[in-house]
Amino acid sequence: MKQPSTRAVRIGQAELGAGAPLLVQSMCATKTTDIDATVAQVHQLQQAGAGVVRIAVDNPKEAAALKEIRSQTTATLSVDLQENYKVAPAVAPYVDKIRYNPGHLHHIEKAKSIPQKVAWLVDIARDNDVAIRVGVNCGSVAPAFLAQYPGDQMEALIQSTLYHCRLMDELGFARFVVSLKDSDPAKVVEANTRFAAARPDVPLHLGVTEAGLPPDGIIKSRVAFEKLLARGIGDTLRVSLTLPNERKHEEVTAGFQIIDDVKNGRFRSVPDLDSGLNIISCPSCSRVENEKFVELAQQVKAMTAYAKQHDITIAVMGCRVNGPGETDDADLGLWCGPTTVNLKKKSTKLGHFGYDVVLDRLRQELDALIAEQNA
Ligand code: SF4
Repeated sequence: MKQPSTRAVRIGQAELGAGAPLLVQSMCATKTTDIDATVAQVHQLQQAGAGVVRIAVDNPKEAAALKEIRSQTTATLSVDLQENYKVAPAVAPYVDKIRYNPGHLHHIEKAKSIPQKVAWLVDIARDNDVAIRVGVNCGSVAPAFLAQYPGDQMEALIQSTLYHCRLMDELGFARFVVSLKDSDPAKVVEANTRFAAARPDVPLHLGVTEAGLPPDGIIKSRVAFEKLLARGIGDTLRVSLTLPNERKHEEVTAGFQIIDDVKNGRFRSVPDLDSGLNIISCPSCSRVENEKFVELAQQVKAMTAYAKQHDITIAVMGCRVNGPGETDDADLGLWCGPTTVNLKKKSTKLGHFGYDVVLDRLRQELDALIAEQNA
């Protein structure tokens, strides 16, 4: 395994980059406002070896819960600012890293420029002694870059990331890492390889989003990580898996297993993910709108097994934050609401259906899609 050439970045008690041991991260899937359950899960993940544990915070109630969670654990914590970067001052005092998505900065405070918004976040990071992750996602590239590189989403993604690195450089802020994620392992490999060639100094956080249920979710992550880690690309990683809470630590053990295998030259043969049925599902987090989500993902996988020879992607997502956008590229997409499941064919909404009937409707749509393909 080649040594990365990145610089060192400290995240709380964790060090990454500059050849430090690869750091494995994970994320709580409990309700953040359920403080006892979240603290217990932080410890569950920490005991499995997670160097950084992420918690979802979207509103003042969750920010207040985070403060209490912080007081009950010494774990290195991070928060993802999602579409509301304005929550940063409320969370930064209680975490060691904040993540912002360059593709989500334009939504609010439209009169402010992107450099102004990034400078504001960097000031908060400095004042609170926290690191930053610039986390881009193929599904949410900044519109300005998509317009600049029409028809070339990958170039737009990479140029957007490099632009934010330059903003950090201009602000004299070096305590940042970058992630370039997608649910397609091939895109993850391409994006990270091209970024690392342009900025070999910047530490990389590797991840395949919505990888899904084990074992497929582990295989998808392995497909990407084996190629990248063997080339010395990657300083920290997360294996995102759809798991019930009591098994959430398996994300961490899967991460360590992949690292150990790559270190020892144990590369597994992997299925060709470009063909056949592909079920992707998010790893779930505090935002999940109905606890039936994991069971739904498992049922979708079992029910659709008959279509395994068909080149069809089905996405199952836990909430309205990422569900609507992240399912656009799938042939069929489901995202959970509190009492119903929204069903989509590509970006077209087909309606919302009760948890007890959505599988029947999904089957009808899947059969129709297979008939279209056969025709
Ligand atoms: S889709 Fe929603 S529930 Fe699933 S991990 Fe993303 S934010 Fe959490």
